[in-house]
Amino acid sequence: MNFLTHLSFSVFHLVLTGAGIFLVVCAVLAFIGWAGPFLVATFYPVYFVTLKPFVWAIQKLFQSRCPQCKGFFKRKMVDYDISDEREVLRTINRVDQGTLFSRTLFEPNQTIEINRQEQVVFVEKTILNHWACKDPLCDHKWTTEEIIDHEGSLT
Ligand SMILES: [Zn+2]
Repeated sequence: MNFLTHLSFSVFHLVLTGAGIFLVVCAVLAFIGWAGPFLVATFYPVYFVTLKPFVWAIQKLFQSRCPQCKGFFKRKMVDYDISDEREVLRTINRVDQGTLFSRTLFEPNQTIEINRQEQVVFVEKTILNHWACKDPLCDHKWTTEEIIDHEGSLT
């Protein structure tokens, strides 16, 4: 009997621990959900000001490499062509701003913002960039694909 009571106690303990962990995980997730915008608002400017230029410079540095001889600053653009051009529909958020002028002298004007969603036509272009290595001994040639888009239509 002693063993059984011990076992049931263990099971009880296990369920309790499980419930406890579950509650803690829920609390942490709720906190992240609540504090997420604040965390982004705090750390994104820091990232933007300090880290982003470095990330950009390192990306540019590695993009300048030749895939064949691995040399830096060896990439040279030869030509490009548009391999694909198509119209796509996208739903975008637009903000309309306006001013409500006050009717009395001492009441300030009010600015209003209306957020709305609009479905617009975008032109999506696939561009093939042709590159060559600046090193005459290597003379490697390669292409990269780049997708750019802008609002508008093909006419
Ligand atoms: Zn090369």
